[in-house]
Amino acid sequence: MKDARWEMPDFKLAKRVTRIKPSPSTAAAARAKELKAAGRDIVDMTVGEPDFDTPDIIKQAAVAAMQAGQTKYTAVNGTLELRQAIAARMKRHTGQDYALDQITVGGGGKQIIFLAFMASIDDDDEVIIPAPYWVSYPDMVIANEGKPVIVTCPEDNGFKLTPEALEAAITPKTRWLVLNSPSNPTGAVYNEAELKALGAVLERHPHVFVLTDEIYDEIWFGEGKLVSLVEAVPALKERIFAVNGVSKSYAMTGWRLGYAVGPLVLVNAINKLQSQISSCPSSISQAAAAAALSGDQSFVAESGKAYRRRRDVAVELLNGIPGLSCKAPDGAFYLFANCSGAIGKTAPSGQKIENDLDFVLYLLDNGVAAIHGAAYGLSPYFRLSTATSEDLIREACRRIEAACAALS
Ligand code: PMP
Repeated sequence: MKDARWEMPDFKLAKRVTRIKPSPSTAAAARAKELKAAGRDIVDMTVGEPDFDTPDIIKQAAVAAMQAGQTKYTAVNGTLELRQAIAARMKRHTGQDYALDQITVGGGGKQIIFLAFMASIDDDDEVIIPAPYWVSYPDMVIANEGKPVIVTCPEDNGFKLTPEALEAAITPKTRWLVLNSPSNPTGAVYNEAELKALGAVLERHPHVFVLTDEIYDEIWFGEGKLVSLVEAVPALKERIFAVNGVSKSYAMTGWRLGYAVGPLVLVNAINKLQSQISSCPSSISQAAAAAALSGDQSFVAESGKAYRRRRDVAVELLNGIPGLSCKAPDGAFYLFANCSGAIGKTAPSGQKIENDLDFVLYLLDNGVAAIHGAAYGLSPYFRLSTATSEDLIREACRRIEAACAALS
């Protein structure tokens, strides 16, 4: 129902607001919550956040910080303690040294990505975004007067960007390539050889910078250590802006703390913007994040095992449902399942399933909230978050199976 308070014909909104849409995943999660609150029995598979609580040692660090009076503004680019912890983590994970002034922090990785675009693009500068993509990238680019260049990465290449597709997408106006590995929504992870092949293309185009969104880099199911772009292609270091945060790795979504490392000129520009926007992220969250990054890492290992088990359960169950298929992703806590077998069919209500949006709405009628592939730039698919209990995953798959079986 429309709310009359939203109607204010004389109030002119800025173009940057009217050009963009709200995040579809946030909207889908809100819709699922609303239906549950209204008493509907919904298994919510939309949530993009760990179901675990923040580990106690991290909470204790936050309490200790408060009690020690760390309750004031900090430096715009974060406390020394936090930036030292970030630099040490970068060294551990990538072997690269970053000076403390090449590091900045913000109220989530999301805010930092937005600011990176705000600081670097305008006049239809182009940003290459491989699809399926995290829903926010295109709108963040559009909000900042840039032009998203969407490159479709089909399932038969594991939803990954190929060097040929990258080469074909680069123009003189290209400013950024966005590379998200492990990916939301597909869980796809680029291996070292794939990163080197993309790196070879990038080395031929020195005007292109790379924003690597590494927010899921602790959640991956391969052997050994995950390789990041800067590690695979150190020659690109001056052109890589690596974004990360504590939300996913340490179950700290509500603490709103993200960070990034990269070219000093960009980091300084972001700091200048932050000085006018937020002054700094919460001092308490910074203390907690420093403890998370430099403390005991057993939560990361344990939660990783749980995500892997859940992935295995969900993939097996989904692949047993006629009309659906899903490859096991290498990382993150999402499944991007193919629903082409359901498209063109008819629901018991008589409604035709024309596309993946119809399919997820049909699933919602059957008690499962998921997000349609079109929201991520690729159809016909749907995304399920497995950041929920095995029992709920089983129940969701049972409902999806019954719903698919009822299609004719
Ligand atoms: N990048 C990706 C791919 C994400 O999925 C998210 C969270 N949904 C973020 C960045 C931002 O996370 P945060 O702002 O909580 O650090």
